[in-house]
Amino acid sequence: MRKIVCFGLSAAMLAGAFTFTACAPARQRNSYTIAAEYFPEEQRLEAVMTAEIVNTSDTAWETLKFQLWPNAYREGAAYAPVSSLYAPAAYYNGASWGNIEVSSVEGAAAFRVAGADENILEAELGEALYPDEHVTLTMNFSVSLAEVNHRLGVGEHAVNLANFYPVLCVWDNGFCEYVYSSNGDPFVSECADYDVSLTVPDTYTVAHTGTCERTLSNGKAVHHVRAENVRDVAFVLSEEFRLAETSAGEIPVSYYYLDDENAETTLACAAESLAYFAETFGEYAYGSYTIVQTDFPYGGMEYPMLSMIASDLREEELPVVVAHETAHQWWYASVGSNQFENAWQDEGLAEYATALFLGAHPDYGVSYEECVTASEQSYRAYFSVSSQLTGEQNTAMQRPLTDFSGEYEYRNIAYDKGVILFDRLRDTLGDSKFFAALRAYAEDHAGTIASPADLIACFARRGAHAEGIFESFLQGTCVI
Ligand SMILES: [Zn+2]
Repeated sequence: MRKIVCFGLSAAMLAGAFTFTACAPARQRNSYTIAAEYFPEEQRLEAVMTAEIVNTSDTAWETLKFQLWPNAYREGAAYAPVSSLYAPAAYYNGASWGNIEVSSVEGAAAFRVAGADENILEAELGEALYPDEHVTLTMNFSVSLAEVNHRLGVGEHAVNLANFYPVLCVWDNGFCEYVYSSNGDPFVSECADYDVSLTVPDTYTVAHTGTCERTLSNGKAVHHVRAENVRDVAFVLSEEFRLAETSAGEIPVSYYYLDDENAETTLACAAESLAYFAETFGEYAYGSYTIVQTDFPYGGMEYPMLSMIASDLREEELPVVVAHETAHQWWYASVGSNQFENAWQDEGLAEYATALFLGAHPDYGVSYEECVTASEQSYRAYFSVSSQLTGEQNTAMQRPLTDFSGEYEYRNIAYDKGVILFDRLRDTLGDSKFFAALRAYAEDHAGTIASPADLIACFARRGAHAEGIFESFLQGTCVI
């Protein structure tokens, strides 16, 4: 995500709240086959999903756990998806709720909704699933959509369908359960193969992850989407979309937009940044790329092959947001990381990559040095103000999303301090080793969830001081 927090907003917050794979081999990947239909009058999605799950751990599994992200939108959720600061912009018709109801899980002996915030589906298996064994579960579920400009919801001009289906929790000596967070992107998922048939009234245009075949019958359109080795699939529907298309080398690039006088310029920026990152970090992992302008209260949001950008961005914000989200195709979509525990890992890199892109493209009017200086100034202002307010400072980058006091702290620590970190590393290692380290990180960890240690090792192998620099930034001991 690329959340824009302007100074006015930050000051308001401070006054208020702050006082206060190489791809895994095919047989080792899960697959999800989903047949879903969206009913606009009821703002509801009905779906049946067959999940073929393979045990990639060395432990027998008796109960599988799936994240139920839509339940964060329900009334009374303890971990709401939108902070009170952004709620007025997001909930454009006032309070509105959504949820997911799973009515059956065939293939399981029993199932229940559990977790700290009704965020987990537990499917008890009839018999243990041993390492490398597969199990097939078929779930029927219904998703009610809140009226909200957010990742999942009926927005003012578009319907965003992201994180709408139960997805297997990642395994790390146990299934990891994550609650939603209004800071950052709490999603952590392994790459899988997806085959999704989404039926919608044929008046809708659909932006999506993957490749699509569209067939029509009786006023409805079935969008049959396939995507292999992706971390998520997402869709954005609207009756108001216009489409602009180009390509970046061999890669088709599409831009679905609601209202953009400079649509060709926005599209060109998407193609240009895709080509630049491919040249700088290594080949783009997928066959096409789409950006979509939609109802979203923050700058933008990344999904594999698909980036959402907010419809209310100012002209000067557009290239920054487009480049940032496009960089996430490398740092999030291809090379995954634990966004809940280590948000800096993909956000810091995506924001730093944006500085590189702008620096290499003077037409956008912002130099690399200006980007780094802006991050330094923002971070120092944050440090100074919050030190005065709290008397002490936790500037550690290494912490879970739920440990940030709000958007202002999150932005400065995960994004701005991340930019400063990678700029320091570049200064220390020199361009040749620095870019070799990033390319190695992209290549060696594609299709996986890379740990901070994996990232650090790529630099430490090329520069003796790199590990110490990471350590001081992540633990919050360095002086900036
Ligand atoms: Zn981001």
